[in-house]
Amino acid sequence: MSEHEKHEDTQVEKVEDVQVETDKKEEDEYEKVCFICRRPESVAGKMIDLPNHICVCSDCMQKSFDAMSNGQIDYSQLMNMPGVQFLNLSDLEQNIPKQQKIKKKKEGEARKPLIDIRDIPAPHKIKGRLDEYVVGQEYAKKAMSVAVYNHYKRVATDTMDDIEIEKSNMLMIGPTGSGKTYLVKTLARLLDVPLAITDATSLTEAGYIGDDIESVVSKLLAAADNDVEKAEQGIIFIDEIDKIAKKKNTSQRDVSGESVQQGMLKLLEGSDVEVPVGANSKNAMVPLTTVNTKNILFICGGAFPDLEGIIKERLTKQSSIGFGADLKDKYDHDKTILSKVTTEDLRNFGMIPEFLGRLPIVFTLDGMNEEMLVKILKEPKNAILKQYQKLLALDEVQLEFNDEALSAIAKKAMKKDTGARALRAIIEEFMLDIMYEIPKDDSIGQVTITREYIEGTGGPVILLRGQEAPRIE
Ligand code: ADP
Repeated sequence: MSEHEKHEDTQVEKVEDVQVETDKKEEDEYEKVCFICRRPESVAGKMIDLPNHICVCSDCMQKSFDAMSNGQIDYSQLMNMPGVQFLNLSDLEQNIPKQQKIKKKKEGEARKPLIDIRDIPAPHKIKGRLDEYVVGQEYAKKAMSVAVYNHYKRVATDTMDDIEIEKSNMLMIGPTGSGKTYLVKTLARLLDVPLAITDATSLTEAGYIGDDIESVVSKLLAAADNDVEKAEQGIIFIDEIDKIAKKKNTSQRDVSGESVQQGMLKLLEGSDVEVPVGANSKNAMVPLTTVNTKNILFICGGAFPDLEGIIKERLTKQSSIGFGADLKDKYDHDKTILSKVTTEDLRNFGMIPEFLGRLPIVFTLDGMNEEMLVKILKEPKNAILKQYQKLLALDEVQLEFNDEALSAIAKKAMKKDTGARALRAIIEEFMLDIMYEIPKDDSIGQVTITREYIEGTGGPVILLRGQEAPRIE
């Protein structure tokens, strides 16, 4: 063997060594979980590897052998395995989890917080970053920045001189399309924490059809790549929270309203929750792990229709007593009425006091107006128009929208009454033709979208390459 070949051989070995080492490292961070009794390796002892990434602990393996060697298979033996309540054979076929491992809890070594207190940007900086993406909603952004700052400060220090700092769970009230989900998503991305978004309407009391309340934690765990430690510092956003208001005058059991609120109390405050790993329902085939929700930030959001009426009623009642009695319709045209909300109003809406008590930070978002919609179209870092401009720029075509066109789009969106959500649908509708036709013709250099084009009374202004834009005197 020549020197050169020898050298190559050792190189290959080295590469293999590195691969084995990284594999080992990954192995070290995760531990196996028994497919049958769901106990992790640290509890049940050494696991026996079977095909399909399935592992079984020696206890369960022994029991299976015992059951078989006693002549006929004695299924009752299977029932006696630790942790197995029942064995549904169809689960074996369908629900084989892809990931049979959970991340090990690190013990012993000094735990470094994932979010270091010195790294949490001050509230004004958090708001500054939010400003880059979210248009308007100044009060909401401010309230959120402070709450998040305090929350993660509390997480990092655990307690402060015996004074327990209360959890900064939030309740966001704002019409559809005002940016509730968008705010939370942006925040989670900026902070680099896992985020789970759930709809309160899908939640029911445990045991009824629907997701049980703890499934939200399991979603968060999935968002954190099954890393319990990371999930415990994440954010859970529960949308449409107004839909679980207490039902009025009902004789049936309220399994998706008041009882869901009741069920969420412990979660909001902080408790240990047993959640399935790699699935959203508990069944015999899925390993369980424990997640503590003490440091999980819960943000609830909802449109709360009719809440304005409740606030108005309270305000008129207050002001119609005594000498300074106001006119009855004083608040009818007040656009800021929602921001005058109190917990009393929310209670009248159907939220239970214990639930509200666990969401100490309540703020409202403004409904969209034309001016805001125009800004949303063009200002945020990832604004829709910028996205289209970039797409066409790849074909070396410059895309422009004149101001009249923008306000025509905003007007159209206002009519739909779904806030900023309508914008994308409208734009996609008329951009389809542009995106289809323009790449056909290499000579096109610039396209300007006009009001006439949006309103369907004319076309866009198209300039060929090398053509000067017409001057408007
Ligand atoms: P909500 O949850 O309040 O019903 P969303 O957050 O889903 O509304 O908003 C829908 C879309 O509208 C978002 O994906 C976002 O692109 C856009 N949007 C809404 N509000 C804003 C805002 N204030 N600034 C920038 N974009 C916004």
